[in-house]
Amino acid sequence: MDGYDVIVVGAGNAALAAAVSAKETGAGRVVVLEKAPREMRGGNTHWSGAVLRFALDDPREIAPLIPGAEAEYENFYEGIAPYTKADFHGDLMRVTSGRTDPDLSRLLVENSKDTVFWMHRTGGIAMEPAVTLSAVRKDNLMVWARGLVVRAAHEGVGLSRSWFATAEKLGIEIRYGSAAVELVVDDSAGIAGVKVRDETGLHLLKTRSLVLGCGGFEANVQMRTQHIGAQIGGAKVRGTPYNQGDGLRMAMAIGAMPWGQWSGCHATPISADWGEFAPRELTDRSNRLSYVYSVMLNRKGNRFVDEGEDGALFTYAKFGRAILAEPGAKAWQIFDSKVIHLLEPRYSTSTPIVADTLEDLVAQLDIDDKAQAMKTLEAYNRAAKGVDDGFDPTKPDGLSTQGLALEKTNWGLRLDSPPFHAYSATGGITFTFGGLRTTTEAEVVGTDWRPIPGLYVCGEMVGGLFYDNYPAGTGLVSGATFGRIAGRNAAKNAARFAGSHAA
Ligand SMILES: Cc1cc2nc3c(=O)[nH]c(=O)nc-3n(C[C@H](O)[C@H](O)[C@H](O)COP(=O)(O)OP(=O)(O)OC[C@H]3O[C@@H](n4cnc5c(N)ncnc54)[C@H](O)[C@@H]3O)c2cc1C
Repeated sequence: MDGYDVIVVGAGNAALAAAVSAKETGAGRVVVLEKAPREMRGGNTHWSGAVLRFALDDPREIAPLIPGAEAEYENFYEGIAPYTKADFHGDLMRVTSGRTDPDLSRLLVENSKDTVFWMHRTGGIAMEPAVTLSAVRKDNLMVWARGLVVRAAHEGVGLSRSWFATAEKLGIEIRYGSAAVELVVDDSAGIAGVKVRDETGLHLLKTRSLVLGCGGFEANVQMRTQHIGAQIGGAKVRGTPYNQGDGLRMAMAIGAMPWGQWSGCHATPISADWGEFAPRELTDRSNRLSYVYSVMLNRKGNRFVDEGEDGALFTYAKFGRAILAEPGAKAWQIFDSKVIHLLEPRYSTSTPIVADTLEDLVAQLDIDDKAQAMKTLEAYNRAAKGVDDGFDPTKPDGLSTQGLALEKTNWGLRLDSPPFHAYSATGGITFTFGGLRTTTEAEVVGTDWRPIPGLYVCGEMVGGLFYDNYPAGTGLVSGATFGRIAGRNAAKNAARFAGSHAA
């Protein structure tokens, strides 16, 4: 046979969800094209923390996903608040300033819980409480971030491995080192195949149903610079080096419509110690997201964001970009000893600079204007508060500084308990927001505003969900939601053409 029922381009969470969904719907021959070699497979999904945001009315609804949690954590469910669909949609609206696509975001929110249960049930993905990322201990209780309690067991590494295992078990063919380079259409203006480059040359694979799930353009310096700007052009890349915008370019070459915020991206504060690309074995452990308990200084010795504007999981995706806009694309996060126990465990992947006085600390930092840094810290301390004034690490506590031009509006604690610790931070790009115009059936829309027959899309390539910012844990749930729909529709479309692949 020289054709496939469904071809899926990419092998991250979204693409493998699509491949599994296509099989589940009855597609016969399904192939996954992975550009990376086997040892680099899995895209950003492998690098991810694999935390999954979904709506739930009653915390106990998650029990089937994590049956052992109650035995492991005392009063587990008491520390979890309900997170309704309205809450989830409200968060998406808030962080995107009301610009998230109304139809796609509704679809994502409505399906979020069902998607995660489907990942567990059909995708074979084991789950666990996302304790290192989402929980803060308050007295004897673990208090969990709303909507963010569950992650894939063994994080992105486990998530990716499970998807591959399930795909293989279902008889889905996986071709490694196989880059899709061109989409082929025929006289019907529909998909007829894809050209693939591998180590043996260029091949045409025929199909009537193709799903694009091959990521954004975060690893492509030219596209980053062109669409987002010079600062993001220079950002370190947090995930896979293989997401180079191929799928977006291929689709637009056959008339697909670009959609969403092409000038936007998810970029987070990460340790400045890393090279241009994140080491695969460290996955997401360079993130530096405990800045809400810190004062962040740039190289001029000034603060430049409200570190406590909101919980880190609602500001981290934009603060990386904020750091990139500062001199040398660098910042220092300064903590005192009374909050050190609140730092995420991943801070342990670098060694802080430590001193007993703020003067001694600043003297060791590569801040150009150290006198200004001391002035900033002293002014901050005069405007800041003490723990007894109502400090609460489990939620935005309203403990705001008073009298600064740039206030720190929550967790505005004085830096007064030595020793003081400083961690470096720069901005690392996670993924890009620009994508393709997509219907609620995961069809790709052309610039003539009609779906391109046989072409489906999922994951980072879906345009219009995120603008300027992003609520943590949404990418993977979105990827699996749209992947599931894309795979199902690709299989149904293939059934219409059964026996006529060669076209
Ligand atoms: C460090 C880090 C931490 C993260 N943590 C979380 C988290 O905790 N929760 C969350 O929801 N999200 C998280 N994310 C975001 C999440 O990883 C992404 O939203 C998600 O993985 C995107 O899935 P995807 O399938 O669209 O793309 P990817 O997983 O990136 O997969 C893209 C695939 O396409 C392949 N490919 C690219 N071009 C081609 C081509 N031409 N031909 C064939 N194959 C191609 C790639 O090799 C790869 O296999 C994190 C991301 C990073 C980098």
